[in-house]
Amino acid sequence: MRKDTGEAWHAEWLDDYFGRHVYGVRFPDGTVLRTDEVHDRTFEAVMPFRLIGQFVVDAENSRVLTCFDDGEDCDRRYSEDRVNDDPHFICECGRLGQRMEEISPSRCGLE
Ligand SMILES: [Zn+2]
Repeated sequence: MRKDTGEAWHAEWLDDYFGRHVYGVRFPDGTVLRTDEVHDRTFEAVMPFRLIGQFVVDAENSRVLTCFDDGEDCDRRYSEDRVNDDPHFICECGRLGQRMEEISPSRCGLE
């Protein structure tokens, strides 16, 4: 999702484009933006979280995903419903949205 136009695009990730470990994202029209210019908060899970059965859900009743449930590499929390809306979503850590894990209740202080 581009902040400037609000449109969803299929884009290409360019490692170290803006310097070491700073990704650039190239859009079909040739525009290259930094990741912090591309990512808004639309994929992130919405607080507060709560437990339904064994699943952590967010304020919009979506299950909550995280890149790595052990939290070692990336601890960002995403809305499963929102991630599912864009099969090409990639976290800034490089984790593909479709490969994210359901977050465990203990990680959210819900156990
Ligand atoms: Zn991540």
